[in-house]
Amino acid sequence: MKIINPATEAIIAHVKEDSKASLKKKLSLLREGQKKWSRVSLKKRIAILQKFSALLKANTEQCAQVLTREVGKPLPQSRNEVNGACGRAKWLTENAEKYLSDEVMSDEGNTKEVIRYEPLGVVCNISAWNYPYLVGTNVFVPALLAGNAVLYKPSEYATLTGFEIEKLLKKAGVPDHVFQVAVGAREVGAALLDMDFDGYFFTGSYATGKFIYEKISPRMIPCGLELGGKDPLYVAADVKDIKSVAAGTADGAFYNNGQSCCSVERIYVHAKVFDKYVEEFVKEVKSYKLGKPTEEGVYIGALTREAQLKVVDAQVKDAVKKGAKVLTGGKKLSGKGHFYEPTVLVNVNHKMKVMREESFGPVIGIQKVKSDEEALQLMNDTEYGLTAAVYSSSLSRAEKLLAQTNSGSGYWNCCDRVSPALPWSGRKHSGFGSTLSHVGLRAFTKPKGLHLRG
Ligand code: NAD
Repeated sequence: MKIINPATEAIIAHVKEDSKASLKKKLSLLREGQKKWSRVSLKKRIAILQKFSALLKANTEQCAQVLTREVGKPLPQSRNEVNGACGRAKWLTENAEKYLSDEVMSDEGNTKEVIRYEPLGVVCNISAWNYPYLVGTNVFVPALLAGNAVLYKPSEYATLTGFEIEKLLKKAGVPDHVFQVAVGAREVGAALLDMDFDGYFFTGSYATGKFIYEKISPRMIPCGLELGGKDPLYVAADVKDIKSVAAGTADGAFYNNGQSCCSVERIYVHAKVFDKYVEEFVKEVKSYKLGKPTEEGVYIGALTREAQLKVVDAQVKDAVKKGAKVLTGGKKLSGKGHFYEPTVLVNVNHKMKVMREESFGPVIGIQKVKSDEEALQLMNDTEYGLTAAVYSSSLSRAEKLLAQTNSGSGYWNCCDRVSPALPWSGRKHSGFGSTLSHVGLRAFTKPKGLHLRG
């Protein structure tokens, strides 16, 4: 399999894809390894994963360089990602003892009632490329802490990063037979679905998530699906500092080239503040430097997948055909590399693909609304349910609106944000199950109720 640098289109590596036979061998090694790993004390497992976090920190530059080369994100954003993964690993390791140890629920007379969090066994993690350190850490760190072995399939667009992760985990002390990497694309992912894992944890698109769930559901094994989004953001009439709201929300839409599951994907603005907001927003977007992700000051790098250029362009063309106005951007750059200008559209509506389908690229539609009620109706007009944001000077107004959005996360005066202490989960086509927080630590366990009488 060829690994391509999306900023130059040069081939940067060739890697050997796994075959069905090599995957089978990896699974049987993991089966053996998991038995021993589950007997290693929780304290020791925590210490090993803490070492991994420290190694990740110490190797930030190397990890960031590899990541930028294969996914095209600006180098400072790659460094931020590695740093963010360290933060998540820190929270998970510091809280593992509290949430994975036995819980004594009652101890009365001669009967003790205990919850034991047993590991699932050998779990399969099929992952995405947009934040491979972050979405990977969400799964393999708690899974390993809980005593599972992990077969980790990085996206074919983040394979070299998968190797970096493997190297650091092994260096930290995770045994070889407890963590294995599966190399390959769609066919390798599909082959994993026919194998005897004890759980599947997937990060990626709705289409693939649906395919996976349909395939494995008859086996009645745990499945976590972290899928796409079409995340809405509403700017209410009472916002105060419009300039900083515009800058913060533009960052939410364009950070990582809009390739975040929780990127702001559509914006609704109250008519009272619409013109000023749009003016400041466009000013901010025009200030973004587009270029080689290794170049100083670049904020918009290359899109990771060539195919996404077509998706973004088709959404822009569809919107323009239906009456939208392009305020900045609107086209692919000529020459080598997958570059698309950061694009802002107004006069948009829900008949346009850009307001309904995941863009996963540097394009945003901004729609004028007359009331909170209209904003809420449009925010909920989606198949997805990952995050929703409200900008307002009133917490009670924001809480009232967020209580009525069907999304896994709600933001007041912030957006495009993940915290390790809070559950990360989707609703509807954004998937189900949770990573992060105590819910995500226990997602890789089977709780057993023990009734102990003696
Ligand atoms: P994708 O669905 O194309 O691929 C994801 C993974 O699935 C890859 O490893 C791929 O090789 C594998 N795969 C593809 N076809 C398969 C099949 N038939 N069987 C088994 N495995 C298969 O998604 P992507 O392009 O890597 O990621 C982008 C998507 O992920 C976006 O929709 C984004 O919103 C979503 N995402 C969600 C979250 C979240 O936390 N909810 C986080 C990051 C990304």
